[in-house]
Amino acid sequence: MKLDARIPAGPLPLKWESFKKDQKLVNPANKRKFRVIVVGTGLAGASAAATLAELGYEVQAFCFQDSPRRAHSIAAQGGINAAKNYQNDGDSVHRLFYDTIKGGDYRAREANVHRLAEVSVSIIDQCVAQGVPFAREYGGLLENRSFGGAQVSRTFYCRGQTGQQLLLGAYQALCRQIGAGTVKMFPRTEMLDLVVHDNRARGIVVRHLESGKVESFTADAVVLATGGYSNAFYLSTNANGCNVTATYRSYKRGATFANPCYTQIHPTCIPVAGDHQSKLTLMSESLRNDGRVWVPKNAADIGKHPGQIAEGDRDYVLERLYPSYGNLAPRDVSSRAAKRVCDEGRGVGPTGLGVYLDFADAIKRQGLPKIRAKYGNLFDMYQRITAENGYERPMRIYPALHYTMGGLWVDYHLMSNIDGLFVLGEANFSDHGANRLGASALMQGLADGYFVLPYTLGNYFASTPADRKSVGHSAFKEAEEGVASQTKKLLGINGKKTSTEFHRDCGKTLWELVGMSRTKASCEAAIKRIQELRAEFWTNVNVPGTGESLNMALERAGRVADFLEFGELLARDASTREESCGGHFREEHQYPDGEAKRDDVNFVHAAAWEYTGPDKTPIRNEEPLNFETVKPSVRSYK
Ligand SMILES: Cc1cc2nc3c(=O)[nH]c(=O)nc-3n(C[C@H](O)[C@H](O)[C@H](O)COP(=O)(O)OP(=O)(O)OC[C@H]3O[C@@H](n4cnc5c(N)ncnc54)[C@H](O)[C@@H]3O)c2cc1C
Repeated sequence: MKLDARIPAGPLPLKWESFKKDQKLVNPANKRKFRVIVVGTGLAGASAAATLAELGYEVQAFCFQDSPRRAHSIAAQGGINAAKNYQNDGDSVHRLFYDTIKGGDYRAREANVHRLAEVSVSIIDQCVAQGVPFAREYGGLLENRSFGGAQVSRTFYCRGQTGQQLLLGAYQALCRQIGAGTVKMFPRTEMLDLVVHDNRARGIVVRHLESGKVESFTADAVVLATGGYSNAFYLSTNANGCNVTATYRSYKRGATFANPCYTQIHPTCIPVAGDHQSKLTLMSESLRNDGRVWVPKNAADIGKHPGQIAEGDRDYVLERLYPSYGNLAPRDVSSRAAKRVCDEGRGVGPTGLGVYLDFADAIKRQGLPKIRAKYGNLFDMYQRITAENGYERPMRIYPALHYTMGGLWVDYHLMSNIDGLFVLGEANFSDHGANRLGASALMQGLADGYFVLPYTLGNYFASTPADRKSVGHSAFKEAEEGVASQTKKLLGINGKKTSTEFHRDCGKTLWELVGMSRTKASCEAAIKRIQELRAEFWTNVNVPGTGESLNMALERAGRVADFLEFGELLARDASTREESCGGHFREEHQYPDGEAKRDDVNFVHAAAWEYTGPDKTPIRNEEPLNFETVKPSVRSYK
């Protein structure tokens, strides 16, 4: 398959301008004739749905929660990046672009990333105009803090609730359109299939979660903004409901899935406490502005109270290994450093899988009230979960699954290889390469929804003949039958294990074999184990209840069925990428000091997987990445 990224010609800083100049426009009077389905109402979906409706398109929006404002975006704590340079500390569009390309270990597309950096400045203006209460300095200007992988302060934030406040802004904009009748909102509705005919997205098939009714919706374009797949690993910092179903089922309909092995492990999470945990909690990366990461120098000290370990007996790991970035080294690098010291037997806490995040110095320097003002809600959250006071005793943290850089392949227009299927936010693969920098996901989701799709979708409509199909078309009927028959099959197995048990096994397999570090052999072992689990699932899962009413066990079973296929794809991608880059660390490919070793001869490309049928090996396609502005070099934070 030829993957054409459709990058505009011309110098990098002028590409987006040149696209906008040359794009085709839809006459205002004609916009209402185009119907757009937007699946997902997180930051990416809500911003897209609101903006498209404001432009005059007819929008139908779907989410599985009871309200759009419960999308997982609400969990984002730390902040959102933008190249405003309010601090006058040397930031610029080019620097944000450069940091993002380098942070992604030179595995992202330059043109997309440059556009992201350009529109980042508009996002902040838009959100301020909506009333998003960003933190302000004494003089009233917006305040910034630093996040990993950057030496400037460009992160805008609302205490530890940035995602929630940004989502409230986007949600209000969405509600305004719902009130105006330009968006029809379908909450508690799960997309279970994509309808494709003549390689064009025609609509979706959903299940109404309260009534169990299966229904088709038709449109001129389908936009997926359905979030990431971290929950393939079972334990992650994502909300419990996050899943891969919409993107994976679109993959089965022909959309290619790019770089599924690029998963991000966040270094700053509360360590796992026991076997019955269903979720992990992130402690925002912003804490690393002031917290210092350390472990005892000597394994013999790990059982001691941290206050009894003398300064000289502490190893401030990140400051030692990466003096120029210190505690703000990027996530992949920091996570591996934590794993290494724990593997050496110097991890702290009951499981030995933990490092300290210590605020004593910051409190001494800035005073407790200042630290409380900056991070109070995060300290409260930590105390509620661990029963420990982070002001008095260093927090304990350990890496956990947090974000997924892989996703459906999209071109510069954010369109997948299926015409009319657009993918936004964490659901697409585009901008972060092999590792996302902190505070860049919110930026990307809102860039896609507020500032990119509204242009590229118009261009698509204006250059493609209208051809909306009715829901009576055979392609819809076939998809509806598939959804109904899977529901029937799941309810009819009556086995002995819950889908949660399968999910936990699949997640544990991925974490242990394709987690923070991987080998060819471990990836192959994961593929085998997941195939076995999948076979067992379809003969031994127990899904109680019926399909005609609210049945959360049934919802979960459908999502787990997809994880059990997708997990294999993830492991396969990890097995074939014979290099280490960003969050993908193959033990066979490392420098003597343990740093990731890229292969810029054979792997400077995105791998986009093409579905070939049930239990068949998918095809690996490549989109070469051309670096015209930034020269890939060894990524160093030392
Ligand atoms: C704890 C935590 C903290 C974070 N903090 C930050 C931060 O400080 N800064 C930052 O930049 N990033 C942060 N991130 C990452 C960021 O929050 C996410 O990447 C981003 O919010 C994803 O937005 P989204 O719109 O793409 O998807 P989501 O917000 O996940 O929304 C997905 C939407 O899709 C819908 N959906 C999914 N599947 C279906 C289906 N089959 N049918 C119907 N609807 C469906 C859901 O209902 C939901 O509305 C954080 C992530 C976590 C986990």
